[in-house]
Amino acid sequence: MEKKNIDWANLGFGYVQTDKRYVANYKDGAWDDGALISDATVAISECAGVLQYAQTCFEGLKAYTTEDGHIVTFRPDLNAARLKSSCERLEIPVFPEERFLEAVSETVAANEAYVPPYGSGATLYIRPFIFGSSAVIGVAPAAEYQFRVFTTPVGPYFKGGAKPLTIRVSDFDRAAPHGTGHIKAGLNYAMSLYAIVDAHQKGFDENMYLDPATRTKVEETGGANFLFVTKDNKVVTPKSDSILPSITRRSLITVARDYLGLEVEEREVFFDEVKDFAECGLCGTAAVISPVGKIVDHGKEICLPSGMTEMGPVTKKLYDTLTGIQMGRIEAPEGWIHVIK
Ligand SMILES: *Cc1c(COP(=O)(O)O)cnc(C)c1O
Repeated sequence: MEKKNIDWANLGFGYVQTDKRYVANYKDGAWDDGALISDATVAISECAGVLQYAQTCFEGLKAYTTEDGHIVTFRPDLNAARLKSSCERLEIPVFPEERFLEAVSETVAANEAYVPPYGSGATLYIRPFIFGSSAVIGVAPAAEYQFRVFTTPVGPYFKGGAKPLTIRVSDFDRAAPHGTGHIKAGLNYAMSLYAIVDAHQKGFDENMYLDPATRTKVEETGGANFLFVTKDNKVVTPKSDSILPSITRRSLITVARDYLGLEVEEREVFFDEVKDFAECGLCGTAAVISPVGKIVDHGKEICLPSGMTEMGPVTKKLYDTLTGIQMGRIEAPEGWIHVIK
């Protein structure tokens, strides 16, 4: 199979149309058989539930070429389970988990020519999503839905090394208590756009959101969970019902405990504690871990001891171990690697 002529090392994180996508439709109470198709456009009613009332949720995962030449995905069963819980919260009919796994594998296999080669640093990003496709004018769940999976090759996240980020404490909230912060809903992103554009205009890379009820505890950023390292090498991650359960963060906790022998605490993290941590990182599929060098709270700067030039030592070990597992250089825990071909 011949790869596409793409400059893998210089790809960014943008949409590149690939050849095939998976589509299934829900109508009269059932999902149809689904199929791979070539048409990258969607034609729906102007009154579709997704367009009027944002009834949609999504997932994000990657396909990798391993050192020994296999194409694999990383813990896709957790994406299937998370999409199920997102659907349940949004009154969207669940796309069965086994079918989700098949759809992801079929879509990746059909776009094999776009899966970046081992060692390029690039990966194939996979975006499964579901939306209300039939007309809805009175506020109610749609009667019909579409599930799609498309792929797009994305470049190495850290070109020329991981540069630590500067983030600010946001005055906006990301998620309400008992709201939708724990599911991967498009609506959670629509309302974060104002805050991120404003942050960028003011020279910050990301927003740190605190818990909206008390504004004393660390939650997450717009699209990544926090992971902290204490001065005595304990890994600490915030626990809250309104944080999106990152698969990367959950995997890093296992890596910290079982591969690096570190103590891990999942608990409430008060903002007041942050000044005492040694390292801070943002966890998500896109970057695995992005190091944070500085956190600014209304003019008051917290400079992490790990500094502004490179990843802290524990963050680096976590990053190297998890990416080693994903690329097949380090043996994975049972069930983590899903071989496509
Ligand atoms: C997707 C997402 C993450 C990261 O989750 P991963 O499964 O690690 O990619 C973190 N926070 C939010 C709000 C997200 O939407």
